[in-house]
Amino acid sequence: MRKLSASRGLIEDVVAASRVLAMHEVLDAYGHVSARSDRRPERFVMSRSLAPALVTAADLMELDADSEPVRDKRKGFIERYIHGEIYRARPEVMAIVHSHSASVIPFGATRTKLRPIYHMGSFLWSGAPVFDIRKVREENDLLIRDRPLGKALAGSLGKCNCVLMRGHGMTVIGDGVPEAVFRAIYTEMNARMQLQATQLEGPIEFLSDEEGRRSQGSNRGTLERPWELWKKTLSRPKAR
Ligand SMILES: [Zn+2]
Repeated sequence: MRKLSASRGLIEDVVAASRVLAMHEVLDAYGHVSARSDRRPERFVMSRSLAPALVTAADLMELDADSEPVRDKRKGFIERYIHGEIYRARPEVMAIVHSHSASVIPFGATRTKLRPIYHMGSFLWSGAPVFDIRKVREENDLLIRDRPLGKALAGSLGKCNCVLMRGHGMTVIGDGVPEAVFRAIYTEMNARMQLQATQLEGPIEFLSDEEGRRSQGSNRGTLERPWELWKKTLSRPKAR
C-alpha cells in the first residue's frame, strides 16, 4: 500500500464510509468521501477516481491543500476541489461527503427549503443553502472542476452543515467520518420525508432552531451506534 500520512484507523474509516454510503444508495457510481489527515491536517485523503462500492485502502490517495495528489500519478476525482476548498475554509471540518442523492435534488432546483422534519435531520437546523454554479460561471457543466468553483461552493456552505448544489447534488461536512456519513444518509432521508409530508395537510411543523441545536448535540453523543452497525453490515472487501 502507498504511504499516506493518515493513520490506519482513518484510512479504514474512509474505505468503510465509501462502502456504507454505496450500500445506502446515497452514493452510486458517483460521489465521494474524504477525511482530513490526522497527522498532516493541511492534507486530506480520498479514493482515486473509482465507484465508492469498490474502494479499498489501496485506492486511497493523499491530496495537498490545493487538492492535487501528493506523489501519486493515478487519476483523482474531477471534483476533489469540493473537499480541498472546504477544508481550507473550515479548519474544524474533519470529513466531507459529496453525493448526487436523488431526494435532495428537488430542493436545489426549487424555492422550497430543505428543513429538519425530524430529529435525525436536526443538523439541518443551520440551513441548507443552495449553490447555483451559474452565478459563479455562466459556462459550466455543473461540476466543481477547479479551485475557484470549490472556493465559491465553500462560500455558499458558510457555517452550515450541508450545501445543496442546483441540478447536481449536495455536500455535507462532519467533525469526523462517522458524522459526515450520518449526515449524508439522513439528509437523503429527511429530504424524502419532507417531500412525502408536502402531500399531506400542512403546514409542515419543522424542528425549531433550538430543537435542532439540542437534538444535533444528542445525536453526536450516539454516533458510534449507527457507525458500528453500518460497518458490520458491509460485506467484506475482496483482497487485492
Ligand atoms: Zn458531483
